[in-house]
Amino acid sequence: MGSNARSLELGVIICKHCGTIIDTVNTNRVQTFYSDCMEESCVLARLEQGEEDPFIF
Ligand SMILES: [Zn+2]
Repeated sequence: MGSNARSLELGVIICKHCGTIIDTVNTNRVQTFYSDCMEESCVLARLEQGEEDPFIF
């Protein structure tokens, strides 16, 4: 479709570990939320890095 299509979703939820965009949400201003994508590759990467409490938010 058109390349100029704009989304009303200004809030973006990204994985605090790998930076993957998990989802977008409607907010009244640009905001970034950090969450956890729970992708297996992301979880495993965290384990390899020895990050603390990989399954505890
Ligand atoms: Zn991730």
